[in-house]
This record gives sequence, structure tokens and C-alpha cells, in this order.
Amino acid sequence: MTGGKTHGANVTPGAGPGRAGSVDGAPDGAGPDPGGLGGSGPAPVLPGSADVVVVGAGQAGLSVAWHLRRLGLAPGSDLVVVDRGPGAGGAWQHRWESLRLDTAHKVDDLPGMKELGLSFATADRSRAAREVVADYYGRYEQAFSLDVRRPVEVTGVQESGDGGFTVATDRGDIGTRVLVNAGGTWARPFRPYFAGAAGFRGLQVSTPDYRSAEDFRGLRVLVVGGGTSAVGFLRELEDVAAATVWATRRPVEFTDDPGAGVTAVRRADEAARAGRPLPSIVSGTGLPATPENLAAEARGLLVARPMFSSIEPDGVRWADGSFAPVDAIIWATGFRAELTHLAPLRLREPGGRVRVEEGRSLRHPRLFLAGFGPQASTIGANRAGRTVARQVVAALRAPVADPAPVG
Ligand SMILES: Cc1cc2nc3c(=O)[nH]c(=O)nc-3n(C[C@H](O)[C@H](O)[C@H](O)COP(=O)(O)OP(=O)(O)OC[C@H]3O[C@@H](n4cnc5c(N)ncnc54)[C@H](O)[C@@H]3O)c2cc1C
Repeated sequence: MTGGKTHGANVTPGAGPGRAGSVDGAPDGAGPDPGGLGGSGPAPVLPGSADVVVVGAGQAGLSVAWHLRRLGLAPGSDLVVVDRGPGAGGAWQHRWESLRLDTAHKVDDLPGMKELGLSFATADRSRAAREVVADYYGRYEQAFSLDVRRPVEVTGVQESGDGGFTVATDRGDIGTRVLVNAGGTWARPFRPYFAGAAGFRGLQVSTPDYRSAEDFRGLRVLVVGGGTSAVGFLRELEDVAAATVWATRRPVEFTDDPGAGVTAVRRADEAARAGRPLPSIVSGTGLPATPENLAAEARGLLVARPMFSSIEPDGVRWADGSFAPVDAIIWATGFRAELTHLAPLRLREPGGRVRVEEGRSLRHPRLFLAGFGPQASTIGANRAGRTVARQVVAALRAPVADPAPVG
């Protein structure tokens, strides 16, 4: 078995946002600074108050900001968008270098992007997706003067007593009448619990920690998870790892059913409204039946096994009692929404779920969660922009209502 200098390290998303020395899961210095919008410029200045604060300048936050601007709010004064990342690009700026737009799912254009002559559909497939998206988002922010303030980390949100919020940041507080949280999920990768995981002697990484297939050269790699990221990792590792094995919770289906997306989003919408666990979109859509994926399935690379039952120091034990020796595990097992800074608002229902309808919190009439649950894709984030912005403007006009009772 190949040792490798990272072997034996149990890498967790410890380099996540808000922790010293890193931003959004990227190791120090690893994130690009696309569009020259980040880090080295003057420290961002924040107003003491604004009608609307948007937390996050990914697809969801930018889409909301664009619609709010069109509805008459002035970015920088009425509307303040903050982001803790060093540059434009939302979570995309932190994705691994080898990810290309055609190995990602499909990146939808932001509203108004066509006016700028930009479209992801025709963007350069030979460049890293993280560079392309960061470049396009950066140009978009500038063209529409969205005035994103970065790097600004929101550390906590409190009700201010007048129906609005006090948004605490590492650059000072902002009072706001309406809050739109569009913080995405990248900082909160989810790993299911497995007996024995802590005692595994090999390398364990979650999706945001993945940098390059080279880190796994010569290793026997287990990839866990049934989404596009898992498929991408397996395809990259094919000629680099000593062997790969794929485990998924549900059987994998490669399909090109055009109606599946709509049904999947509707099911996720219903779950979000009811505060039930959100089904992953891919569980409803299946994986894309591209010629590359079908060929990889035919040659045995993309053939998933059901989940193992436990993890042992040098591998995993399957339900039938057989053992697979493994040197590394990649957990591509999804994400949870980044809501830590909203904890003082006590949004969680008994059981831990957060109830949201059309992007609006069912607990607080002036709180919106854009890009949450069923909106967690670029197309969903665009939809969030339109529906959330309209509701935000209505909320600004409405008299202040009491928040729903907690408990
Ligand atoms: C590997 C991978 C590939 C994907 N590929 C696709 C794809 O091809 N097509 C697709 O439609 N979807 C894809 N997705 C889903 C993806 O999450 C969405 O497409 C989209 O990028 C999410 O946009 P967002 O604005 O909700 O979140 P993000 O892009 O994550 O933006 C959230 C922003 O909020 C900021 N933020 C968070 N918390 C704070 C805070 N406390 N203070 C200040 N700022 C904060 C972050 O810095 C970040 O910039 C993919 C996801 C993953 C993980």
C-alpha cells in the first residue's frame, strides 16, 4: 500500500470558513482571487443600517440583489450584500482545479447576464470552472454595480426589537429591516455516521477538501455518495488510484428524463414547507446519462455497491461480512445549509428542521433563505432571486408583524 505524505491524516472540514487562516473551506492561499475583486483591496466599509442585507454573493445572493436593484433598491445604501470570500464566485471559487463546466451538472446563467453578452452555455470548457464562474460573477457584479462588500463575515444575527435585525459582522454591526440569507452550503459538508470511522487509519476527505486526483495516486479509494461530485471523482481517479470502489445509499440510475427535475424540485419544495428532511435533487433526477457516464458504467467504473455496514482501521466491512481493504475514503455525501450565524433567531423546529416556503422563513416574516433546500442549484437560486426579491419589497411595505411563536 502506498503511504503518501497525507496518508494517515483524518482530514475533516476543519479549514472551513470563519476559522482562523482560511475562507470558505479553502486552505490558506489556495483560493483564486478572480476578477481582482478580493483580499488585497481596501478594507470594506459598511453602513450602520440598510433596508435589506443579503448574506452571500453566490448565485442566490447575486440573483436576489439583481432583482432588488431592478425593483428600485440602491445597492450600497438601501441594499447591502456582504460575502466573506476573498473574491467573486461564491462557493465556485473554492472548487477543485480539475472541475470543468462540462463535468459539473449545468450552471444556469444569472438573470440579466445575457445583456452582458455572457453565458455559461458558451463559456470556455477548457478553463477551470472556478475561474470561469468567478470571472463571470465578478463582471456581473461590476456591470450591475451590485457593490458587494468583501471580505465581510456575518458572525451572528439578532432580532432588533423593531421587527428587523442587527447583523453582527467582523467589520461592525448593520441594522436592517429585512435579512436575506444566501450563505449556501459549501462550508457544511455532511458525513453520515459510521461505526469505526474515527479509527480508520487511511485518509478521509469530504468534497470541499478534494484538491486533485494526484493526492490519491496508488491508493485504493472508496468514494461514498450518489451525486455528480462522486461520479466526477471516480472518473478522475480511474487511471491514478490503484483501485476504486463506489458505495451509495440508493441504487444509482443514469437517466435523461427531462421531467424528472421538475418532480424532484416539487418534492423538495414540499419537504421544505413541512420542515421535513430535504431529499437530494439527484435522488429524484438520477444522474445524467451522458455517453461518458454510460461508457464508464459499462466498463465497471461507475457501478455502485450498497453502503458498507462499518469502517475498520484498514478498510470497510460490507453487510454480507466481506471486507474491502481501503487506503482512502472520499465522502461526497452532500451538504447542509450554512445557518450557524442565524442560531440566535431560533429557527429550528423540534427535530431540528427549518421551515421555509418560497424562500421565506415560516418563523420570521422578514427573514428569507435564498438558495435553501430545493433552491440549492443555480437554476433554483435564480428562481429564489425572483420570488424572494418580490416578497422582500412587499415586506418592506408591510407593517411590522410579530414573529411566529417559538416552540
Ligand atoms: C461540487 C459541486 C458542484 C456543483 N455543481 C453544480 C452545477 O453544475 N450546477 C448547479 O446548478 N449547481 C451545482 N452545485 C450546487 C451549487 O451549490 C449551486 O449551484 C450554487 O453555486 C449555490 O449557490 P449559492 O449562492 O446558494 O451558494 P454559494 O455559491 O455557496 O454562495 C454562498 C456565499 O455565501 C457566503 N457566506 C456564507 N456564510 C457567510 C457568512 N456567515 N458571512 C458572509 N458570507 C457568507 C460564502 O462566502 C459564499 O460566497 C454544485 C455544488 C457542489 C458542491
